[in-house]
Amino acid sequence: KLSPRLEAVANLVDAKKRVADIGSDHAYLATYLVEQGKVAQAIVGEVAFGPLDNAKHTVATQGLGSQIDCRLADGLAAVSKEDGVETVVIAGMGGLLIKKILNDQKQLGPFSQLVLQPNTDQDAVRAWLVENGYAIVKEQMVEEGEHRYEIIVAEPGKQTLSADDLTFGPFLRKEQGHIFLQKWQHEQKRLQLVLDRLKEAGQVDNPKYHQVSEKVKKIQEVLSA
Ligand code: SAM
Repeated sequence: KLSPRLEAVANLVDAKKRVADIGSDHAYLATYLVEQGKVAQAIVGEVAFGPLDNAKHTVATQGLGSQIDCRLADGLAAVSKEDGVETVVIAGMGGLLIKKILNDQKQLGPFSQLVLQPNTDQDAVRAWLVENGYAIVKEQMVEEGEHRYEIIVAEPGKQTLSADDLTFGPFLRKEQGHIFLQKWQHEQKRLQLVLDRLKEAGQVDNPKYHQVSEKVKKIQEVLSA
């Protein structure tokens, strides 16, 4: 049984594709996809020995060794053109790391589908996608415990995104779902506290005060759109 976050990621993966899950740790996602019959073959890539062992252990325990290949590599170096990978999943990492992983092996792409779940810096991931021949086709938010996660699905294509699209997500900001609202209300409160502290410290003329208050205004504007 997958966590709600990983289950949401898995559900966004196109069926009948060859998948690579980069930074897979336990290989739970790949195992789930193969067991569900959603994909025939999966490559799981791991940069570290511990997580790679976790992955190998799961695959061996489930007897899926002929369908899931666990490889030790940095990012997409786990994959070669000959593998014919169609969908790449990169989940549970910072957005800047995801962007680096995609960028380091650009020549392998474009892949027919990217399913990305950046924990932070979602704007940087979106910007990378549109600058590198991908269009975002779907976005989803999922709640797990205290956390709210964004999942971004992209396919080869052209797309122009505004600054608001990059920050809030082109689909998410239009849908204004309840997890989206919670995330940004939470962020707004956090930034408001920063403003209150700066004010108490007599720092309203500090450029930082202006910067943060612009962010708060932007959030208010997007939430009331
Ligand atoms: N993808 C799983 C998930 O979403 O639950 C595991 C996420 S885990 C927090 C991040 C994993 O990414 C770690 O196991 C780490 O070793 C791996 N990782 C970090 N940088 C990597 C890289 N450059 N290439 C491959 N794996 C990497």
